[in-house]
Amino acid sequence: MTSTITNHREVVVVGGGQAGLAIGYHLAKQGTDFTILEAAEEPAAAWRERWDSLKLFTSARYDSLPGMEFPGDPDRYPTRDEVADYLTDYAREFNLPVELNSRVRAVRRENDSYVVELDDRAYVARQVVIATGPFQTPFVPRIAENLGDDVVQMHSTGYRSPASVPDGRVLVVGGGNTGFQIAEELSASREVHLAIGSRQTPLPQRILGRDLFWYLDATGLIRKTTASRVGKLMQKREDTLIGSNPRRARRHGIELHGRAVGAGGSTVSFAEGADLDVRGVIWATGFRVDHSWIDVPVFDENGRAVHERGVTTSPGLYFLGQLWQHTRGSALLGWVEDDAAYIAEKVAALRASAATEGAAAAAASTSN
Ligand SMILES: Cc1cc2nc3c(=O)[nH]c(=O)nc-3n(C[C@H](O)[C@H](O)[C@H](O)COP(=O)(O)OP(=O)(O)OC[C@H]3O[C@@H](n4cnc5c(N)ncnc54)[C@H](O)[C@@H]3O)c2cc1C
Repeated sequence: MTSTITNHREVVVVGGGQAGLAIGYHLAKQGTDFTILEAAEEPAAAWRERWDSLKLFTSARYDSLPGMEFPGDPDRYPTRDEVADYLTDYAREFNLPVELNSRVRAVRRENDSYVVELDDRAYVARQVVIATGPFQTPFVPRIAENLGDDVVQMHSTGYRSPASVPDGRVLVVGGGNTGFQIAEELSASREVHLAIGSRQTPLPQRILGRDLFWYLDATGLIRKTTASRVGKLMQKREDTLIGSNPRRARRHGIELHGRAVGAGGSTVSFAEGADLDVRGVIWATGFRVDHSWIDVPVFDENGRAVHERGVTTSPGLYFLGQLWQHTRGSALLGWVEDDAAYIAEKVAALRASAATEGAAAAAASTSN
């Protein structure tokens, strides 16, 4: 460890995206001594790194964090930049202590606290909230390695606009929201193919003039927990395809294929047996979560965090903002506040019991 300075805080939050800010709001209200450590050099980094034309699939009505309404017409679908501005304003409005350029390299348990290590300093805290996001490390299938150098390829995180991709035939791999949206944008200027590995159930963005999330909210489905029968069913059906669907893609002239199963030179082959020569490939193939830097035994054999609504068995260590952490809404702007409030209560309870223990110990030592 190269850290030279050690700081003390009651709570350290790792990650300054919407989840980190939402818990920060509650910690500030409680008067907790805390900091938010954010690896990026600017706020709302995850949103800024997404493609230029991205529009939310949740309307503004469902994009607010606790204590501050998302501005403007509640029925519109905000842009990526509007979300970045909102999160930046949010941190400023509540004076949240976000430290930028602060990547956490390790978290480990020492006595009854955690040591949080950065390149140039460390923090010691009784409680740590991991809010590093549900979509962390871009995942690209191994077949990508077999494509020749003359094919321009990138993960969807590298895609900004059609200018990112060379002229000529392009293949987008991945049948989720991201794959469909990027394919549609590219289809205005070139021949586009879309490989769909596993079909997701398409959901309309609006039904009878109302936003899909209005129904999910009104019926209580968005808050069905992972333990409930309906929640378990919803988790199995990857319902992320909102507003896009194969019919609409075909209308944009996009040719659909099955799973991309092989590649060589400039040719990609598909599960149905077809081959395609391409100039560019965009891998909209998702992300993996990487918690390997957390050296606390709270992971299963697959590296997945074991927790109950974000609370781990290691006292004072929590996760926030994970996909289906508790409900479908756990990793969404408008609902992360439910889990944030819950974790904040747990933090407050542990602080209170630590304070009581401290007072008892002090009383015992003076009476001796
Ligand atoms: C393409 C796309 C579209 C989406 N559209 C919507 C939508 O329309 N509506 C909606 O509600 N949700 C949407 N989401 C889902 C979700 O709201 C976002 O993924 C959101 O960014 C998650 O917020 P977060 O704070 O949990 O994580 P992030 O926004 O990923 O923030 C985590 C932060 O942690 C930092 N970090 C990571 N590791 C470290 C470390 N070791 N040390 C310090 N900092 C670290 C990162 O730099 C990052 O800033 C979308 C997601 C994607 C990928």
